[in-house]
Amino acid sequence: MSRRECVFWGWGEPGAGPSLPDHAAGFLRSELGVSGAVVSTPVSLEEVRLRPSALGDALRERLAGLAELRDDPASRVGRCRGKSYLDLLRQRAGDCEDAPDAVVAPASAEAVQAVLVACAEAGVAVVPFGGGTSVVGGLEPLRGRHDVLISLDLGRLEGIESFDDRAQLAWLGGGTRLPEADHALGQRGYMLGHTPQSYEWATVGGCAATRSAGQSSTGHGRIEENVVALRCATPAGELANLPVPATAAGPALKQLVMGSEGILGVITSVGLRVFPLPAARRYEGFAFRDFEAGWDALRGLAQDEMAPDIARLSDEVETRMSFALAGNGAKARAMGAVLRGRCVLVCGWEGSEVSVALRRKLAAKALRGAGGWPLGQAPGEAWAATRYAGPHLRDDLLDRGVMVETLETATTWSNLAALRSAVTRALEASLPAPLVLCHASHVYPTGASLYFTAFAAQDPDDPASQWRRAKLAATDAIVATGGTITHHHAVGADHAPWLGAETGELGLDVLRALKERCDPAGIMNPGKLV
Ligand SMILES: Cc1cc2nc3c(=O)[nH]c(=O)nc-3n(C[C@H](O)[C@H](O)[C@H](O)COP(=O)(O)OP(=O)(O)OC[C@H]3O[C@@H](n4cnc5c(N)ncnc54)[C@H](O)[C@@H]3O)c2cc1C
Repeated sequence: MSRRECVFWGWGEPGAGPSLPDHAAGFLRSELGVSGAVVSTPVSLEEVRLRPSALGDALRERLAGLAELRDDPASRVGRCRGKSYLDLLRQRAGDCEDAPDAVVAPASAEAVQAVLVACAEAGVAVVPFGGGTSVVGGLEPLRGRHDVLISLDLGRLEGIESFDDRAQLAWLGGGTRLPEADHALGQRGYMLGHTPQSYEWATVGGCAATRSAGQSSTGHGRIEENVVALRCATPAGELANLPVPATAAGPALKQLVMGSEGILGVITSVGLRVFPLPAARRYEGFAFRDFEAGWDALRGLAQDEMAPDIARLSDEVETRMSFALAGNGAKARAMGAVLRGRCVLVCGWEGSEVSVALRRKLAAKALRGAGGWPLGQAPGEAWAATRYAGPHLRDDLLDRGVMVETLETATTWSNLAALRSAVTRALEASLPAPLVLCHASHVYPTGASLYFTAFAAQDPDDPASQWRRAKLAATDAIVATGGTITHHHAVGADHAPWLGAETGELGLDVLRALKERCDPAGIMNPGKLV
């Protein structure tokens, strides 16, 4: 296949993507006590540890008759897991013993169905693989009670399948990556309006399977608000719904499939509401005295239906760090010095000239009234220019012995302060002198999501346990404070132990019963979600 391929140990295509600016070394030294020098590099493909494939000849032949089948080391290692910090630690160390026995890539929804039936009959575990960007262990090669495991690569289910201009509804193959979807839609004058930070690699089907939220979710909605219909191949047959704008025909089966993370079946096509390409985009910054003042202003906007399409409010630490690491020179760092101790809110509006001008004017007036200090377009443009840089820089940070990982949650406005301080305390207590950054984004009338990034000097002896302890403490704190275990990263294997605390036992049983009906052999993505 001639598809773009991500490096197996990090983010991006080989040699591509932004790097840490030179002055970052000084910052890492003073803030985290690490030297800033490269202390480790990922192993080469030849050094990766990989067990021989357990796929027998008969099964190999059967699956190869249904779909493209690859079992070379590069394919197996590249589909071994996702892109969390823990995933990258293991991939960088070449720890791929458990890699899928083969990568199977069907070319149609019917071929997906046939592969699932064959795997159910043979008792082969199946991990659906979209863009491979899961950060919650959603792609962990867990075999459950099965000896053989395949990665079901959905990359060949790509492109626009049909387009209804009048309804602004596009059917896309489940394996279509977001940039490719936007490229194809752009030629017709439309866009997805879905830009998670993992945009470069994530797929339409993967986003629906994890109920993802893009950076402009405040304006364009989360993925589940824009999925009008979908097709999902399960071992027991196809689940599908009508592409109608609304229905009262019982509980929304489409919503049961969204967020099902491959444990029921494979989303082969997604019917999405799409948005006209915006004639105007405007991003700008506002400074606030502190985080609380900023989110009170955002709350006002959300409740008065004036929230911008993109709203991202950084706390004091994140504001300081983003200016300190800004790659665009002395000017940004000078602004950072002026704004030390303050919080920056980035707002973005996208749409027609009139709509952007009008909505921006109303929101800017309200923000000024709430104590916001307008910073002009520079901070907004800087955010837009670097909106996908973070995961590239993470590779550089891992080379330099820095532990860096993120986690996210959401709660009501009334509970936001308690949740923020509980999670911050948990991370600070479980990591050595960390930097804990937080931003509020994805705002709703009733509340907002909080997104934390933790940096610390990596424990060179056992970096995985170091982060596991911190994650455990932070998730316990989230649950104890009434936040959701995940606002958009999904559950996977990593959050599964806490799902019952959120859904209750009966909720878990309902999900298990649904899985049992769609996947009686228990082959679909074992060990995830429930
Ligand atoms: C750097 C970084 C930034 C991120 N930023 C965001 C963000 O801003 N917002 C956000 O919501 N998430 C974000 N994520 C998380 C991740 O990108 C999302 O969960 C995304 O939706 C996953 O899409 P994917 O195609 O990569 O799916 P994958 O990672 O391939 O799969 C995710 C899960 O869904 C299952 N799956 C995949 N495709 C299908 C399918 N077609 N049918 C059924 N099951 C399927 C997989 O088995 C797996 O359990 C980020 C991740 C990274 C690494």
